[in-house]
Amino acid sequence: LVSRESQPEDSVIDVGGVKIGNGHLVMIAGPCAIESEEQALTIAHKVKAAGAELFRGGAFKPRTSPYAFQGLGEEGLKILAKVRAETGMPVVTEAMDHDVFDLVEEYADVIQIGTRNMQNFSLLRRAGRARKPVVLKRGMAATIEEWLMAAEYIMEGGNSDVILCERGVRTFAHHSRNTLDLSAIPVVRKESHLPIIVDPSHAAGRRDQVIPLSRASVAVGCHGLMVEVHHQPEKALSDGAQSLYPEQFESLMQQIKPIFEIF
Ligand code: PEP
Ligand code: MN
Repeated sequence: LVSRESQPEDSVIDVGGVKIGNGHLVMIAGPCAIESEEQALTIAHKVKAAGAELFRGGAFKPRTSPYAFQGLGEEGLKILAKVRAETGMPVVTEAMDHDVFDLVEEYADVIQIGTRNMQNFSLLRRAGRARKPVVLKRGMAATIEEWLMAAEYIMEGGNSDVILCERGVRTFAHHSRNTLDLSAIPVVRKESHLPIIVDPSHAAGRRDQVIPLSRASVAVGCHGLMVEVHHQPEKALSDGAQSLYPEQFESLMQQIKPIFEIF
C-alpha cells in the first residue's frame, strides 16, 4: 500500500484544511513539550506569524530518564486544544502508548508515533484504526524498508493518511545527537507516494545545526519541516538546547523560501 507501484501519484493529506504533500512546503513548529498555557500560546502566536501552518507540542513525552519531565498529560492536550481555538492552527502531538491513544486521538489533529515506537506493532495497528492523520517518525536505527513496513501496518489497518518523518539515525558521531539521513528523502520519494517531512531538531540535538540542516532538507525535496521552537529555551523543560529562538525560526523561514522555489 505504501509503494509507488500501488499508487503512482503523490498522496496529499488534508489536516484541517492544510495540505501536506501537494507541492507546497508545510512548516510545523512549536516546543518539544507543552509546559503551560502561557508558554504554548506565546510560542504558537510567534511561529504562526512567521508562517508555520501546524503547531507541535508533546503532552506525553518519551524521555530517556524516568526522572525527567514526562509532560503535562491530559492537561497538555487541553492546552493544545486552546492553541488550536485561538490560532486556528491544527496541532500535532505524540501518542506514546495504547493507554493514552484514545485521549490523544480525541484532541490531536495529527497523531505522532515517535522514533522509539516505530516498530511497536500493536501501537501501529491502533494508529491504523485512528480517524486522524499520523506522523510516523523513523526509528533511530531503522532501515528505510523497516520504516515503510511500519507505515504499511498503519495503512493496512485502514488509515491511509500517513506522513513519514526523517529525524536522524544513530551513528558513531557525537558532534550531533543523531545523524540526519538526507538521502532518505529522495529514496522514500522514489519508493513511496507518502509525503515525507524532516525534523532537523531531533537529528541535530543542538540549535546551531538546525537551520543548515533545514536548508539541506528542503534542497533534497522534503514536503515539510517540523522544528522545535521555544521563546525561552534556556528555561525549557525538555530539548531546550536544540530549540530555536522565535527570531531564528523567522530567519529559517526566509532562508528556505528561495531554496524551495527552485523546485
Ligand atoms: C518529539 O518530536 O518530541 C520526539 C520525542 O521525537 P523523536 O520520537 O523523534 O525522538
Ligand atoms: Mn523534543
